[in-house]
Amino acid sequence: MPNKSYLDPSTALEHLKTYDHSDGLSISELMNSRIHGGLTYNDFLMLPGKIDFAAGEVTTESKITRNVVLKTPFMSSPMDTVTEGEMAISMALLGGIGVIHHNQTPEAQAAMVRAVKRHENGFITDPVVLSPKHLVEDVLDVKERLGFSGIPITDTGSLGGKLLGIVTNRDVQFRPETLPLSEVMTTQLVTAPEGITLVEANHILRDSKKGKLPIVDKEGRLTSLLARSDLLKNQTYPLASKRPESKQLYAAAAVGTRPADRDRLKLLVEAGLDIVVIDSSQGNSIFQIDMIKWIKSTFPKLEVIAGNVVTREQAASLIVAGADGLRVGMGSGSICITQEVMAVGRPQATSVHAVAEFSNQFGVPVIADGGIGNVGHIVKALSLGAGAVMMGGLLAGTTEAPGEYFYHEGKRVKAYRGMGSLEAMEQGKPIPPSAKVSGVGAGSKPSKPAKSTSHENAATSRYFSESSAVKVAQGVSGDVQDKGSIKAFLPYLHTGLQHSFQDIGVRNVQELHDGVRAGNVRFELRTASAQVEGGVHGLHSYTKRLFA
Ligand code: GDP
Ligand code: 5GP
Repeated sequence: MPNKSYLDPSTALEHLKTYDHSDGLSISELMNSRIHGGLTYNDFLMLPGKIDFAAGEVTTESKITRNVVLKTPFMSSPMDTVTEGEMAISMALLGGIGVIHHNQTPEAQAAMVRAVKRHENGFITDPVVLSPKHLVEDVLDVKERLGFSGIPITDTGSLGGKLLGIVTNRDVQFRPETLPLSEVMTTQLVTAPEGITLVEANHILRDSKKGKLPIVDKEGRLTSLLARSDLLKNQTYPLASKRPESKQLYAAAAVGTRPADRDRLKLLVEAGLDIVVIDSSQGNSIFQIDMIKWIKSTFPKLEVIAGNVVTREQAASLIVAGADGLRVGMGSGSICITQEVMAVGRPQATSVHAVAEFSNQFGVPVIADGGIGNVGHIVKALSLGAGAVMMGGLLAGTTEAPGEYFYHEGKRVKAYRGMGSLEAMEQGKPIPPSAKVSGVGAGSKPSKPAKSTSHENAATSRYFSESSAVKVAQGVSGDVQDKGSIKAFLPYLHTGLQHSFQDIGVRNVQELHDGVRAGNVRFELRTASAQVEGGVHGLHSYTKRLFA
């Protein structure tokens, strides 16, 4: 071998500076390469950075609207096979948020919002209160409707009345339903004075070994209540998405842009709604702009997520109208045929980048909605500037999604249908075999399947702002495989995200966004053969288990 002279290895890092740019592509180079077409998540990768921290140190806190920060950037879609009360509660407990669909009566949707808000609390400032004259059956009724039975008793039967006692589950068990509560209530009470901090009150609750701690003013009048079970929930779900002041879970729900949606929204706000998603496949319409303005003037504290959009021009209209967050995606959903039928839409990676790059300048976060099929897609959406991702198909097979499992071609599955499918638009038609749309989850009365008669069909309103004689489908109806409980699946997504961030060399979402903007996080395009190479290949057969 001829003797070749090499550079001194100890100068390798210095030598990098002789190149005029870093390896790989910057975000703008990646996006400019789309001269040949828009990009999807599968069309690119991120290059690895440097690991000098443990994956467990990565935090995934992110903004989903101007004023709402979640500990994980996961949202579930407002679809009738994805998000009802049980999914919304579980998503919020695990650090994300579920958007309750509106393909049901306003009353049923409001009951689900109420179930989310009642699920966990700091001080319960509007507790259910009864009087000594109420009967055992009244407690049983509250238990059935709202899921709890620890009820303070005041002389007036309402908050602000003089505290006389408390009834709990055990006081009413095996007792005649017609017995007045004065006969069964406990009068030996541990209470705390009004003005006490949550931390101090929690200490008393812990030490007293009681289930509830009534808070009273100087005259002994009930002002609020604390539940021991909330301390436990707080320990079990450290990432939970809660309003900082009340410690109640965040509740989000979708509405349309028709006049009746204003009445619907009033009910949802009464039930405690924090975030409204205006559900429309093409958000840049006068109907939506009017709706945003009306919401902002009627409910100034409500966070408004507008959409859907895929261009910065659409985004600009909604930002001016007052949107606090934007939902991005048109035609990228797994059940979606919009691009095929309408010839309108945009590849999702390009959409997310185009909108986020624009709207982030105004402090309006972007939610990448549709087409999320794995952890990698989530990381890519975040790298393109999104604050969160919204998932339908990925979550529709979990236990907490509405509907029952059934078997299809030997696989255990759940129904999943596009909100623009004829089945959803004609709602009431059964979803494949025994699947039912029901259940509001722990702590509340199960809802009946929504009836189509008493409300305008929400699925139709998402796709068409005016009624029309012929319904043109923009989605399909099918099924997805069993994914087990979201309580195992979401932590898998979260841990996956932490490991991916570690590979990229960023510790949190902000660092990722900053690194991409500064050109330090680098990208690479994937050719068709690169995509084959990056998937499992060359095996006779294999099993794909995602987590254990
Ligand atoms: P209980 O012992 O049957 O009252 O039920 P738990 O104490 O196990 O659960 C009560 C749960 O319901 C807690 O998470 C409370 O925050 C929540 N909750 C919401 N609103 C109320 C209310 O008005 N009264 C009570 N007792 N709990 C409420
Ligand atoms: P996925 O996570 O299954 O890929 O996509 C879910 C998203 O698809 C939803 O959040 C919503 O934006 C969109 N979507 C839901 N139903 C339909 C439909 O019938 N047609 C279209 N075009 N999009 C839909």
